[in-house]
Amino acid sequence: MDYSGAIKRQHSSIGLNLVATQEYMMVPSVNNKSLFSSEGVKVDLTHLTLESTLADLPTHTFEVNNDSLGEVVAKTFTKEPHLPGVVILDGDGDVDAIISRGKFLEQVGRAFGVEVYLSRPIRVMMGVLDGRYLELPHHTSIQEAASMALNRPVAMAYEPILVTLPNGRRALLDVYILLLAQSKLLKLVYSLEQNRRQLADSLRKTGKALTSTLELEKVTKRILKELSKVVWYKRGTVLLKEEERLRSIAKRGFPDNMSHSDLQVPLQAHEDDVFYQIATSKKPMIVDDVTKTTGWQQLDGLDVHHSWLGVPLISYKGVIGMLSLTRPEPNAFNEDDLTVVRAFAGQAAVALENARLYRKITKFKDQLEVRVEERTIELNRAYDILEKLDRTKSNFIEISAHELRTPLTVIKGYAQVMNYMPNIQGDDKSEEMIEGILAGVDRLYRIVNSMLDVAKIDSNSLNINREEVFIPNIIYSLINQLKYDLQKRAITINLINDLKDVPSVNGDATLLNKVFYGVLVNAIKYTPDGGTVTLECICLEDGMVQTAVKDSGIGIDPDHHELIFEKFYQTGEVALHSSGVTKFKAGGPGLGLAVAKGIVEAHDGRIWVESDGYNEEAFPGSTFYICLPAIT
Ligand code: ADP
Repeated sequence: MDYSGAIKRQHSSIGLNLVATQEYMMVPSVNNKSLFSSEGVKVDLTHLTLESTLADLPTHTFEVNNDSLGEVVAKTFTKEPHLPGVVILDGDGDVDAIISRGKFLEQVGRAFGVEVYLSRPIRVMMGVLDGRYLELPHHTSIQEAASMALNRPVAMAYEPILVTLPNGRRALLDVYILLLAQSKLLKLVYSLEQNRRQLADSLRKTGKALTSTLELEKVTKRILKELSKVVWYKRGTVLLKEEERLRSIAKRGFPDNMSHSDLQVPLQAHEDDVFYQIATSKKPMIVDDVTKTTGWQQLDGLDVHHSWLGVPLISYKGVIGMLSLTRPEPNAFNEDDLTVVRAFAGQAAVALENARLYRKITKFKDQLEVRVEERTIELNRAYDILEKLDRTKSNFIEISAHELRTPLTVIKGYAQVMNYMPNIQGDDKSEEMIEGILAGVDRLYRIVNSMLDVAKIDSNSLNINREEVFIPNIIYSLINQLKYDLQKRAITINLINDLKDVPSVNGDATLLNKVFYGVLVNAIKYTPDGGTVTLECICLEDGMVQTAVKDSGIGIDPDHHELIFEKFYQTGEVALHSSGVTKFKAGGPGLGLAVAKGIVEAHDGRIWVESDGYNEEAFPGSTFYICLPAIT
């Protein structure tokens, strides 16, 4: 490469610029004619921010006249032993050459009769001369420029960079200055990150302290205490928004004789009112000097604090209040304070809202407890009355059953006597009437006995005479007893497995007989003519003998499955009551299942019904289950 030829070309063009760079040094600017200062100036990077661009960094450019170019270059390099290179621009600012020390400079020196001694090896930047130099617009960010500079081929990485200036001219940027600026920015990022972490940490601690209680009074006091740990202030208040005013609920730094009502602020709906502005804009606000603010009202008895910071407390409901802080001197709050207080206010609003909700819930809970207590007293009273009534009813049942038995015995006795009287015997009509009387008396006896059983069950005085009872025997005997009724109603009895394979139970045969009688008679009663009653007796794994009485009858609504075991409860119409024991749907007094349940439970057993529901067309049927503990 003929470098001297390149220089010659510059000589022949008009208005050449010589641009020089120096490591860590800023060269005085273009027009002060002093060219290079041998001392140089330390680069000041303190003004840099994260948004800084190449325009914020010092670049080097100055002009020399045509004739002196070679001499100037030579002199410059001689005077500035650390100067890495020069860029030669033409009058239009186009780069004609970028050169380093080295052979080229030696040649230039020789041509102008100047001796040049080099203190370090300098290369001619061939790549740049070939148009491969890094040229960046002045608005390129420092971070971006640094990464591009360092991503150049290794040999180029530390070569200067050409910066295009706003006026279209170019200047030379020392890559060391660029890297220095980048490291300054990295430090800035790091310290910002540190600050952010510290703030996040103290906010986390504050948040924890704030939410550690749900009592409104404590929360409000804690807000100002915790806030003073993250931002210094002289006086502070927590204000809650209430329709037309801000009510003070916590204060700090005020004289003791100043009450909350002294500190409340009316919300005036006009633009000069800072509180109104914050409440409507939901944005915090700094007043640098309240004495210069129109409409600022200074409270009597307080020293003037010039700086004020107001931050809204915002919850999901909107602005619920605000934090008001002051410092004595003017211009004392800055954007950093605002950021911290704003972050704090977010947490304070959550804590306040939680405390308010908690208070509401606690109040509601207290009211609820009082009401529950009142209702419990009322219920207990009603229960007492019902119990008394039930006892009266039981007593009545017992007394009336006893009272009925005596005349029944008399009627039965006379009817039996009459049956044997000679003028009756042989008289068909009279005999039929006496038989009717005796059948009615028997039915009445059964009812009276059921009444007595119920009374005994209610008073827990059922007497159980235990013996070994084989349930299938009871069932066989009942089927035999009811065989005429079954025939009359054309109802078939199905016995599954012949009921044989079950153990005996330890119980009262007479009482258990009543249980199975009641259930079997019901199965016949509520099954239409021609239906089926299926009986199954099995031993369950839990050691219970379970008898299932399944009919093909009218079924029972699930709502009544439990109620039918209550005394005097019937689902059918009272009008359908009939004197026929097994007549279809002939209701009784509603005692059969109550007695059965009482007896079964007195034997530590269970009785229940399963049915898909009541339907007199589909006849879904019902299955009654009776479980009694087997003898082990
Ligand atoms: P009742 O003397 O009326 O038969 P129960 O206590 O024996 O009294 O029965 C109570 C009610 O249960 C009956 O009125 C009837 O409505 C219903 N019930 C009992 N067994 C059956 C059944 N197998 N099918 C349908 N309904 C039944």
